[in-house]
Amino acid sequence: MSSYHPLTEAEAIEIAKSVPGVFNADAKLVSREIGDGNLNLVFHVSDPATNASLILKQALPYAKVVGESWPLTLDRARIESEALILQEKLAPGLVPKVYVNDNVLALTVMEDLSDHVIMRRGLIEGGTYPKFAEDISDFLARTLFFTSDLGLNQQEKKGLVRSFVNPELCKITEDLIFDDPYTNSPNNSFDDHLKEDAQALWDDSDLHFEVALLREKFLTHAQALLHGDLHTGSIFITPESTKVIDPEFAFYGPIGFDIGAIFANLLMHYAAQEHWTPDEATRRDRRAYLTNTIRDIWAGFDRKFRELWNENGVDRISRTPGYQDDYMNRLLKDAFGFAGAKIVRRIVGLSHVADIDKIPDAAVRAKAQRLSLAIGTSLIKRNRNAASIEELIGIAESAV
Ligand code: ADP
Ligand code: MG
Ligand code: MG
Ligand code: MG
Repeated sequence: MSSYHPLTEAEAIEIAKSVPGVFNADAKLVSREIGDGNLNLVFHVSDPATNASLILKQALPYAKVVGESWPLTLDRARIESEALILQEKLAPGLVPKVYVNDNVLALTVMEDLSDHVIMRRGLIEGGTYPKFAEDISDFLARTLFFTSDLGLNQQEKKGLVRSFVNPELCKITEDLIFDDPYTNSPNNSFDDHLKEDAQALWDDSDLHFEVALLREKFLTHAQALLHGDLHTGSIFITPESTKVIDPEFAFYGPIGFDIGAIFANLLMHYAAQEHWTPDEATRRDRRAYLTNTIRDIWAGFDRKFRELWNENGVDRISRTPGYQDDYMNRLLKDAFGFAGAKIVRRIVGLSHVADIDKIPDAAVRAKAQRLSLAIGTSLIKRNRNAASIEELIGIAESAV
């Protein structure tokens, strides 16, 4: 294969054509670049005559948001392809099918999921997803259990740890989630009306202590192969189907980080409801739907992870009475802390969420931002004492 260069639309079409069994030999394909991220090109290649289509995702050697001044390893494309292939094996049907990956071109050719909608947008448009809690708890339990030391022998696990060393992408998380929001960093970005709220974060040494512990866990706790960026913009959804995309941040880290990412994004959507659901009675229902989803995700994850463990646990000592309860309780605590950290960074840090930023009225937006910060900081402060998912829901409900 030729050396690395960003693909043109014509080259994307040529590569798509070479994938066996998708397009007719004489098909006239069209390509559109549809990437909405900052780091990658995404080509949608299709045959208008048959509606057959493919997605080509190619990593760029720099972050688009700041031009070429922020170089970023192309190895993340290999990590993304390999993670998708492994996730498909462990949690069939919950990720896009990978057809081809080319590590020189930093390219993944995959199933087109355009019949799904990105969950963040679906939620903003008022969508409800009755299968989501079941699907995402399956994805979490299966991908995390079978890559952990509970479900994989130590030698194989160490091999996976080595394949998924991802220092540059982890560094982004370490800085943007566990450092910048807690100091007056030039990477931060927030509305002027949040100056005092940001200052309060910067001055709160009890909060910093908890964030330092969470950061230490992120840096050192190689518990399972994480997705690493599991927000509602990394999930394609319909009422019947869930597909997790974009695992370029995958690495061996603490399980609660992936679970917390889901909770954080549902909670920010909850915090933004004054705008998205103006009618008060409907808003109460909408918020109850979101908290029930969180409750169902935790219950499903807890039950399925334990079942997998009881049926497939690879060693004796981890069957010691009490150990499983202790382990699951630690995952819950971590999920609280990481959820909180993921909320705080989306309000004052570099990268925000549309659920909140797209609220046009500054006063309503400010309320959603402050509500998010109240929930996020409470979760961080509670994390080591958390014992039940109901506490997380209570924190969200009493912050409104
Ligand atoms: P990034 O890492 O740059 O955020 P994503 O993998 O999240 O890239 O993809 C960016 C966008 O490209 C998605 O929000 C979606 O609109 C589109 N996209 C990505 N993968 C697919 C796919 N398999 N099918 C259809 N659209 C996709
Ligand atoms: Mg994106
Ligand atoms: Mg993405
Ligand atoms: Mg990405």
